[in-house]
Amino acid sequence: MKTDWNPSVLDLHRFTQLEGVWQDATPLSKLSRVLEACLDQPGLAERSCQWTLSGELRTMAGQSQAWLHLTAQVTLSQQCQRCLEPMDIPVQVDRWFRLVADEATALAEDDAAEEDLLAMDLEFNAWSLLEDDVLLAMPLVPRHDACHAPLSAALEDDLPHPFAALASLKAPKQ
Ligand SMILES: [Zn+2]
Repeated sequence: MKTDWNPSVLDLHRFTQLEGVWQDATPLSKLSRVLEACLDQPGLAERSCQWTLSGELRTMAGQSQAWLHLTAQVTLSQQCQRCLEPMDIPVQVDRWFRLVADEATALAEDDAAEEDLLAMDLEFNAWSLLEDDVLLAMPLVPRHDACHAPLSAALEDDLPHPFAALASLKAPKQ
């Protein structure tokens, strides 16, 4: 069944009952909190975040449960904390939430539940959930796996190491 959903005010009850699916490629310019957390780079605001939100009904021990699944992929830009150069950060979100009656129930059950809980909201803001989860998936201390050595370090590497010179003196004769 095809239904038009409004991710700004999503009726989660209907969305999960109908096992709705919302998919979008959203430019970062529309995800302002994510954009602000990035290192500004040319074209960054036009990069798109591919994301899908889907509703699912499950029966567990004779009880019907409503679940929400969020997946997102986007390549962000941050500053490497080692060499301070910009770096692309591929971010992936893949998270399930079980819907509960309200915020109070979510708080009460949160400690005991292994899964993430979300209050059943009839005017749910999916953009906000997307932004929260992309921000959570960003590394706290972004670093290249291997930094391009800064110029000064590269020059140092070319100089003979003082101990290397000593070692060659001490090397056993062939
Ligand atoms: Zn680096």
